[in-house]
Amino acid sequence: MCTGYWISVIAERKANPSKRTGWDVAFMEKIGPDATMVSGGFPRPIKQGKRKGELTWRGVEMCGPVIVTDREVAEERARYEAETGNCGDCLGEGNRCVGWHKETGKEYRACLTCSGTGKAGREEQSIESERRN
Ligand SMILES: [Zn+2]
Repeated sequence: MCTGYWISVIAERKANPSKRTGWDVAFMEKIGPDATMVSGGFPRPIKQGKRKGELTWRGVEMCGPVIVTDREVAEERARYEAETGNCGDCLGEGNRCVGWHKETGKEYRACLTCSGTGKAGREEQSIESERRN
């Protein structure tokens, strides 16, 4: 998974309550120490030319923006870990994407949170210390 995954999950729930498929994040910006502003909507497929079939935001009306706080992310992740037993940082994959680029794609490294096991099991202590920061 990528940094920002939980933010996009929460943003979609807020911006797309009817759960129409195809919603995607268009733009994400950190607007404070613990909050991120997210704009998104339904990108449309390009109808002709070289990039036919690809999705574009051009001319698309965005929903939002909505604000997602770090606290909401932490709660969402904790709920996921409790429900699935999977590591909430890599979604049980054991590795996580540390960067992404439009042309080169995703770059993965072993997840530090679970040491690549994909299992949840972060100690309460570490969650507490995150809250203090
Ligand atoms: Zn992990």
